[in-house]
Order: sequence, then structure tokens, then C-alpha cells
Amino acid sequence: MVQKITIAKGDGIGPEIMDAVLKILKASGADLEYEEVQIGEQLYRQGNTSGIDKAAWDSIRKNKVFLKAPITTPQGGGYKSLNVTMRKSLGLYANVRPCTSFHPYVATKHPDMDVVIIRENEEDLYAGIEHRQTDEVVQCLKLITRPGCEKIIRYAFEYARLYKRQKVSCFVKDNIMKLTDGLFARVFKEIAPEYPDIQSDTWIIDIGTAMLSDKPEMFDVIVSPNLYGDVISDVAAQISGSVGMAGSANIGESCAMFEAVHGSAPPIAGQNVANPSGLLRAACLMLSQIGMPEIAEKITNAWTLTIEKGIHTADIYSEKSTQKVGTSEFADAVISHLGQVPEHLPVVHFDKNIKLTLPAYKRKPDTRKLLKGVDVFVDWKGSNPDELAEKLQRLNNGISLKMITNRGVKVWPEGFEETFCTDHWRCRYEHEDGSPATPESIPQLLQKALEHGLDIIKTENLYDFDGERGYSLGQGQ
Ligand code: NAD
Repeated sequence: MVQKITIAKGDGIGPEIMDAVLKILKASGADLEYEEVQIGEQLYRQGNTSGIDKAAWDSIRKNKVFLKAPITTPQGGGYKSLNVTMRKSLGLYANVRPCTSFHPYVATKHPDMDVVIIRENEEDLYAGIEHRQTDEVVQCLKLITRPGCEKIIRYAFEYARLYKRQKVSCFVKDNIMKLTDGLFARVFKEIAPEYPDIQSDTWIIDIGTAMLSDKPEMFDVIVSPNLYGDVISDVAAQISGSVGMAGSANIGESCAMFEAVHGSAPPIAGQNVANPSGLLRAACLMLSQIGMPEIAEKITNAWTLTIEKGIHTADIYSEKSTQKVGTSEFADAVISHLGQVPEHLPVVHFDKNIKLTLPAYKRKPDTRKLLKGVDVFVDWKGSNPDELAEKLQRLNNGISLKMITNRGVKVWPEGFEETFCTDHWRCRYEHEDGSPATPESIPQLLQKALEHGLDIIKTENLYDFDGERGYSLGQGQ
């Protein structure tokens, strides 16, 4: 049955690499029909700040599968990242990026690298919730959710099982962000035992990234929250020697988007020199996903043989190459190898029945949530925390001032005069004896603050969940 997909040729080198890929797809016998949409620079220039219009959204939402060439985001303010918008609007929660080296045919320091990065794609600091709160302080909210963690971590293990991978590694910074990254690590530890056939380990992101860039052969599948995943997926693509050759999949429950990792490379656009491999490999991820793994296998093996024979575009041309070709000649070479397999590099075999489905998320039973107090954030231009504490103690109404921190560090009581302070103060109110607070105590406290002329910029309620503290202590508390 013919499958209709949406395509966008994008900007810069986009149209020429997309034409090369479509030529290969046609020659491979892929039963695809294309609906082309306009996105990117042309729309941005027409004043559409999101770079995509209703017709394109309708097509993508109808066809559910989108093969996208890179677009150019104009410099300057006001333009939204189209990729971030698409990922979040379509619920594309998993970003999958295989990073493989093709030693000795493509130069790399890591001949045995074969890592898949699975990045959470919707949450974390990319929620885009930022506020300026005082003259000196701005804030970005890091949101990590249990459903988000469960979906991406399960996806990573299911992916590992389907593609016969041995190990899933979790990259987090839970030694510092004990609640947010702590939740990601905790869910990883809960889910890993459900996959006894797959090894698992957890790395702190800094040393994990150092090891990944030094000894990538230690890793197989890596799963990570959004920001770290963004960084390590570029590191991994780069050290595999082939950032221009990596493709990625953005997978959601109903839609999926496939694209090259690289951008629109305006300086080389229209010259027939760009490497179409990144978009072609993204197209192969797409074919696997939409139930055409045999075509994905055929194209991947023909492409690998082309690379192995040294038929290279300018970006990867070296003394190991035999022939320097342009974009369309490279596509012709891949087409001439369809049906053949590489002699030295690994031959791929995709499971014909491959299908990755996740169980629906099940909410856990409610916990017992107990209000313990409130953190009141104050904009105050003074420098002596004792002076601020004296003002704040006037607001005590059952719950009383327990601690003041500045940028997370305790400055009252018994702060250090060496600690640098900004105009942004977190002031914690709790009962002396640790007993629960009443909900009314918080608005009463805020009313008093108003009467005393204190500039409250926000509050955060402090809760225990089933007796477990749901907020961080002050550093030094
Ligand atoms: P880029 O990836 O376009 O280019 C970086 C370097 O890699 C350049 O030297 C370029 O010539 C080279 N290169 C990239 N792809 C290549 C290919 N297929 N073949 C040969 N050489 C290739 O990154 P950039 O210069 O930072 O960004 C250019 C534009 O692309 C910007 O407007 C940026 O916003 C956009 N961009 C889009 C996407 C996307 O649509 N997914 C991703 C990244 C950047």
C-alpha cells in the first residue's frame, strides 16, 4: 500500500539533498507518495515568526510522517525555533540519533564507535518558561515529569531490545539536582529491572561526556534529559567523524519527524557539493518506523558500500577516497549499489517485524501531600542579611522565618560575609517544630509583606509527599 508522507525541501542545501534522497527512495522501490509543504526562511521573511503555516501543520498532522530538510533561521530576535515548536506541538518526545564511525573510510579517532543517543525532547530547561525577577536575576524553570521520564526511559530500553543492543546508560546530574535529575535517575532504576536481558548503568553527565568523547566504544544506547542530550548528541555525531552524515528521528505517539543533524549550510548551497547522507540516513530511520525495514536495509547497505568504495562528497573526501563526487552523482552511486552489501563494514539486517510500542502511562496512586511552609522570594537591594531578616521576622504568623538564601546559599542565620549576594533573596517560612502549615498562613503572610512594603516576586509552597521532603535544603543549611 502506498504511504503518503509530508516533505519539506527547506533552505540552503535543503532542496538539492532532498532531491538526491527522493531519487534514491524512488529507485529503491519505496512505496511512498509525497505531499510537499513550505517551511522556514520564506515564511519567516513573510512575517510568520514560527516559520510554519496552517497548510503545513494540516499536512503533517494528516500524514503523521514528516521528512524535513534543514531550514535557515534568520539571525536576530523574534524568530522561534521551528524544531522546538514542532517537537513540542506534535508531542515528539524521543529524539533518536545513531552515531556510528565508518573507519577507515571516513576519518575518525574512534574506529569502533556505534552509539545511539536517545534524548528526551519536550521537557527540562526547554520548557521555555523564563522570567526576569529582579534587576539582577533571571530564571529558567527546569521541568522534569514522571510521565516524561517513564516514556523516554522505556523507549530507550524497548529500542535497545528491538535493535539487539546490549546496554542502556543513563546520563544525569542527580548529585546536584536531586529532585529533577533525581527523578530521571530514580525512574531509570525502577524501569531497568524490567529488562533483565539489557545491562544498565548511570553516569554523572560530566564524567559520562568525558568518557563518551574519549572511549565511545564503552557505550551502546545512552538516554538523557533534554539539555544534556542535546549537547552529547552533537559531541557523539562529531567524534564519529561524520556530523554531516548523521540522521535523527523525532518520535511521538502519533507523529514522527525525520531530519539530518546538520543545518542548511548556506555558503555551499546550490553548488551540488553537499553530502546528502544525513538526510538519507534519516529517511532510512523513517522507513524502519513506517514498516518498510527491508527498503531501509537495502538503501543502508548500498550507501555503506558507496562509502566503503571511497565514493565521497567533498566534506569527507580524504586520501582514503577514490572518487570526489557531487550531491547528485553520490545519489547515482548509491542507486547503482542497491541490492548489494558492503564487503568490510557491517551489513545491516533490520528485523522485518520491528515495531516499537510503549504501554500507556499509568498514573501512580496519589501520595499524602502535606504543606510544610513557603519560600518567599524577595527583591531587596540591601546587602546585610541580618537587616532583611529583621524585616521578614515581622511577618511571622505561626510559620516563622527559618532561613534566607541568596542564589541557593544560606546567608541567614549565621551566613558568611564572604558570600556574594544579589538582589534576589529566598526566605523560608516553616513551623519551628516542623509541624504542617495551614494554607491560610501563606496569603496572610503575603498581605503582611505588602503592608510592610516588601517586594515579593514569587512564592513556592513547601510540601512533603508521603513523608519525603519535596524541596531542597539551602546550601550550608
Ligand atoms: P550547518 O550544519 O549548516 O553548517 C556547519 C558546517 O558544516 C558548514 O561548514 C557547512 O558547510 C558544513 N555542512 C553542513 N551540512 C553539510 C552537508 N550536508 N554537506 C557538506 N557540508 C555540510 O550549521 P550552521 O552554519 O551553524 O547553520 C546554518 C543554518 O542552518 C542556520 O540558519 C541554522 O539556524 C540552521 N540550522 C538548521 C537546522 C535544522 O533545520 N534542523 C539545524 C542546525 C542549523
